[in-house]
Amino acid sequence: MTKDLTLGIDLGGTQLRLAVIDGQGQLLRRAAVATDVAGGPHAVIGQMVKLAAEVGEDFNERISAAGVSSPGPLDLDNGRTSDLPTLPGWLNFPLRDTLSEKLSLPVVLENDGVAAANGEWKFGAGRGLNNIVYITISTGIGGGVVVDGHLMHGRRGMAAHVGHMMIDPAGPICGCGGRGCFEAIASATNFSIAAQKLGFVNGKHAVQLARDGNEKAKILVTKEAEWLGYGFASLLHLYSPEILIVGGGLSSALDLMMAGIRNQIDRYAMPAFREIQVVPAALGDNSGLIGAAALAMKFG
Ligand SMILES: [Zn+2]
Repeated sequence: MTKDLTLGIDLGGTQLRLAVIDGQGQLLRRAAVATDVAGGPHAVIGQMVKLAAEVGEDFNERISAAGVSSPGPLDLDNGRTSDLPTLPGWLNFPLRDTLSEKLSLPVVLENDGVAAANGEWKFGAGRGLNNIVYITISTGIGGGVVVDGHLMHGRRGMAAHVGHMMIDPAGPICGCGGRGCFEAIASATNFSIAAQKLGFVNGKHAVQLARDGNEKAKILVTKEAEWLGYGFASLLHLYSPEILIVGGGLSSALDLMMAGIRNQIDRYAMPAFREIQVVPAALGDNSGLIGAAALAMKFG
């Protein structure tokens, strides 16, 4: 039987998601469970094996390999996790090899931002292009870059940590220990905190009210667009993508923020970069899951 399917695994600090994916990036079956954070890596590996058995039941003969999207930083040379902020106890854990042994399948490990960029590149908004920047605005800010038709990895696979690009030296302290990082100012977490300070329930609530015309909410959304625009202008200069793809929770408000983002790009990007399109991710929250599975297709 041809091995034409792969398993995608999206390891998150909240949810663990698995899916069987075909060569066209279609999800054939999926399952999700709350990540057993307290149980540590061995408990989570157990969850992965159990879910893989569930979703793979009818497809086992056809699955060639598994791709894992994991929060970073990771040591991709050795397939190990590093000190994952959202998953305590994973320092130096041999995730790739342990999982490969348990599943009896080759396993590819990838940083979640890069995996999502790969998903959008292969099957989403960046399909057919040679240069893309993908950025996710969620708990933090992450991303991945395709340059000249290659996923960019850099030394130890740590390139494209776009969330830690410093955009305001006088800005707030970041989770990474730095100050004024893009993530520390413009993540969905920060947007939510700012929204709560203004009396909204959370970021989602503020976005909803901005849609309904609430002035305070509209100002908050405009401010967020302004910060995103600063960062995006720098990313355009750095990578010269054909398209900048925005994913993550806050991308649902991209339509509201687009004019503000474009204003900043027109103001701060050099003229030759201003025509670059900014678009929402086409695969929604499955970019990473599909992208990781797509990386495993090389074993098919
Ligand atoms: Zn940082």
